[in-house]
Amino acid sequence: MYKSTKFIFITGGVLSSLGKGLSAASIAALMECRGLTVTLLKMDPYINVDPGTMNPFQHGEVFVTEDGAETDLDLGHYERFTHAVLTQKNNFTTGQIYDAVIQKERKGEYLGATVQVIPHVTDEIKNKIRNLGNGVDVAIVEVGGTVGDIESLPFLEAIRQLRADLGPQNVLYIHLTLLPYMKTSGEVKTKPTQHSVKALREVGIQADILICRTERKISREVKEKIALFCNVRPEEVIAAEDVECIYEVPLKFHEEGLDQKIVELLNIWTRAPRLDEWQAFSEKVKSLKQEITIAIVGKYVDLHESYKSLNEALFAGGVHNGTRVMLKFIDSESIENEGLGDKFDDADGILVPGGFGSRGIEGKILAVRHARENLIPYFGICLGMQVAVVEVARNVCRLEGANSTEFDPGTPHPVIHMMLEQRSIKDKGGTMRLGTYQCVIPEGSRCRTIYGTDVINERHRHRYEFNLDYAEVLAQGGLMPGGLSPDGKLVEMVELADHPWFIGCQFHPEFKSGPMESHPLFSSYIRACLDRKLGVESVLADAHTEIEDEAHTKPSERVRFG
Ligand code: GLN
Repeated sequence: MYKSTKFIFITGGVLSSLGKGLSAASIAALMECRGLTVTLLKMDPYINVDPGTMNPFQHGEVFVTEDGAETDLDLGHYERFTHAVLTQKNNFTTGQIYDAVIQKERKGEYLGATVQVIPHVTDEIKNKIRNLGNGVDVAIVEVGGTVGDIESLPFLEAIRQLRADLGPQNVLYIHLTLLPYMKTSGEVKTKPTQHSVKALREVGIQADILICRTERKISREVKEKIALFCNVRPEEVIAAEDVECIYEVPLKFHEEGLDQKIVELLNIWTRAPRLDEWQAFSEKVKSLKQEITIAIVGKYVDLHESYKSLNEALFAGGVHNGTRVMLKFIDSESIENEGLGDKFDDADGILVPGGFGSRGIEGKILAVRHARENLIPYFGICLGMQVAVVEVARNVCRLEGANSTEFDPGTPHPVIHMMLEQRSIKDKGGTMRLGTYQCVIPEGSRCRTIYGTDVINERHRHRYEFNLDYAEVLAQGGLMPGGLSPDGKLVEMVELADHPWFIGCQFHPEFKSGPMESHPLFSSYIRACLDRKLGVESVLADAHTEIEDEAHTKPSERVRFG
């Protein structure tokens, strides 16, 4: 039977960073809790074809999908909040739209017509949106940017037309705005919301539901006022009060009646939502008993958005172990300039995440050495694995000058190098190993115990690889393969013997971690960090009595793990 997909369009007003992505993800989660199937789409107004070549300082993390698309970080929220598996189709940019339109024009597909924003660009956008539905009950579409920007106009025009194309009962517009609180007058101000709703009306869209970000609770009177000026009913004004933990948002939205309103307006018949999993998770988050600190040594440390999925994966691994995870971001260049100092004194674990380019590399290698020698749990992700290999090669295997050819093309020991087939490709963005690859985990390895299985699938985004020519000498130094490609040619994980927890992986496990399904590597890593902390503390607590001498021994002799 043909079933039409219902579309929910989410726009944002007043200012950016209000949490449109999280709102879209939370709405999708609520629809799933009602037994509906969902998909999500992010439309980005910039001209880049994808965020792959953009500086993480400006744009935050690049999220990689199963099929290897380099996408906006909001797709990470979408996957973490729902069961939807997203692909290339779930994120597009103005650049991609124009690229497609120009290619069609060159092929003569417009039959001599003057190619224009309306209808050619808007049709291209509408087709992509329509194709997305593909039989799911609800498609949630987030329009990037803020209403009033020049760049998002074609997107707004396309979604305006879709209500007429698909029928009003199949399309819903939700607008996210801000209600600033004025300390001086002690009140919440509604004018910016009124203006942004008006700006949306000027392009022909009347918002059906307003989600209003607010620091404080808002009264019924405020909702009535907004409703009156913005042409909605008071129950269509949803207060989105600040929350401590983003995973509370679906529950808060539900309390405000948002999901009920959506299904009413879209005329969808569903069961009552089953929120028990979200409630249980939220309770768990509130009752975390322990606290650990992880030092993250990277280059993009000023913008935490650059490591969005990583932060969430660490958080989830923490919740899984009943512990809060504090993140201490350390700029790797500062290690090069100032030395290690006391930077790691409060770290229960050290992690080097993914990254590109040579800046700060030596600082990262120093951090690895510190973790290895002091038996601090070390987790190296992608570049973090590569620097771990370099460190062990140089300082354990005595391969002087060992490096990755990314940082030293003339190194005498290229322990990390580019595979032959990739060397010929010049186009930036074309040389990467992207998306899901299978990995086989050898029996008897630490990784096998952690995953509890022998074959896994993980997502990649990198150019360089472990150089197999050095596998033997590195193994003699204690660095063993913890995972290999099925043909045995690529080393996907390494693990260090005689260390409580020292693992590097060439893929990005953080992309596959969910709040309630913590990734095995992260769960295990956090456990190791917590054990270290508890072990150290209990030894110190006992120190004055029976084992006074013990307190002076090296940490390696005091604390053994796993
Ligand atoms: N720069 C390294 C490479 O291209 C690592 C990439 C990453 O960490 N994602 O292989």
